Amino acid sequence: MKKKINRILILITVPAILLTAVLITYLYYGLFKAQILDELKSYSYVAGDCTDLQALRELGEELEPAGVRITLIDGDGTVRIDNMADSAQMENHSDRPEVQEALEDGEGSDVRESETLSVSTYYYAVRLADGRLLRTAKDAGSLYSVLLRALPMLCVILVVLLALCFMVAHYTTGRLVRPIERLAANLDGETETSGYPELEPLLNTIRSQHADILKSAQVRQEFTANVSHELKTPLTSISGYAELIETGMASEEDTVRFAHGIRSNANRLLTLINDTIRLSELDDGDQRMDTERLNLYEMAANCVEMLRMSAEKHDVTITLNGYECYITGNRQMIDELLYNLCDNAIRYNNAGGSVTVEVYVRREGAVLSVKDTGIGIPPEHQERIFERFYRVDKSRSKSTGGTGLGLAIVKHIIVRHHARMELHSEVGKGTEITVQFPHGTGL
Ligand code: ADP
Repeated sequence: MKKKINRILILITVPAILLTAVLITYLYYGLFKAQILDELKSYSYVAGDCTDLQALRELGEELEPAGVRITLIDGDGTVRIDNMADSAQMENHSDRPEVQEALEDGEGSDVRESETLSVSTYYYAVRLADGRLLRTAKDAGSLYSVLLRALPMLCVILVVLLALCFMVAHYTTGRLVRPIERLAANLDGETETSGYPELEPLLNTIRSQHADILKSAQVRQEFTANVSHELKTPLTSISGYAELIETGMASEEDTVRFAHGIRSNANRLLTLINDTIRLSELDDGDQRMDTERLNLYEMAANCVEMLRMSAEKHDVTITLNGYECYITGNRQMIDELLYNLCDNAIRYNNAGGSVTVEVYVRREGAVLSVKDTGIGIPPEHQERIFERFYRVDKSRSKSTGGTGLGLAIVKHIIVRHHARMELHSEVGKGTEITVQFPHGTGL
């Protein structure tokens, strides 16, 4: 950015300086030319005052050393007197621009280049009362020579100005960019501003993205630490059981028990790994999600049937209420959502309790509600149970095969389906989780 601003400033300044230099030279030349013509004009006044040809000749001789040429020309262009050449040898002057101009307007001037580029001849002609013309001329520097003479000074000025420009450009860009650099180094500082109101919206976006990145990095790091920890426990148990069998210390009866321990811990590991893989798949927001029209009631009925055995094992009754209604969604994800909610409602229930799954339609769209008469969730935990690995009662979760990832998966699925979720829970009374699918879903 600095380089670009510097380049732009210099790109603007260098041509501006060059143009100014050329214009000043041209202006200076204009003044120089006007001064010489004025000088010639005053000579011609003096010459015009000569009463006869002799006096004019004498004046011519006088002015010759000063390089001033005086020519008297007849109205038809014939040269009568010239103080620097033999007038008899001179050709007719009627075609000279200053002569033509003077014949027409009373006075005329011209500047003609000589063979050497550096010298020009300046002419001034005036019509006398008798119709003859008096022309004065002088050699002086040409535009080219004026430019050449001014060149060293111009170069010095140019170099000084350019150096100044570089310095100003450097200083200005530094000043412009410094607040942004300071900001980049201190993005976390909430009070830090760019000093440019135009940049504030961009800054806010960057800040919130930066905060998101930091948050997600932290979540990832915590997740990795948690996963490692969760994997370690069953693996340690498996290793312990295997060691006991290996040493031959276990009786036949124990071996069966240990094998069971190994199997249940291995299953735990598998569930954990599956849930972790599922979460990371859901985390990948770019992944395409195939959707179709789903009969929510039918899917809930299947889920209830699938979990009936588990419910019986926990001495819990599970029932489905409602009627057929449809949503647009991903079949696998909705299956997972139903399973996780119903499974939790059974696992965190009391013996003799019940789970009621309900599917119905509201004005806003299809609704799924899973209600249990279980242990409930204390208010201070209600916000956090959707976090990965967050459990209210860790031992209960583990003993019933929980991984602490079920509700995190549910939350992802809900977001992906643009649905809303509500949780009502009271300790000792039970929990109800309601999922409101978006508008346009229903019958
Ligand atoms: P887990 O695999 O431990 O069940 P979840 O992510 O499904 O993990 O749930 C997180 C925690 O929320 C559980 O450990 C449990 O403490 C609590 N919880 C979830 N559902 C219920 C419910 N229906 N009743 C009471 N507590 C629940």
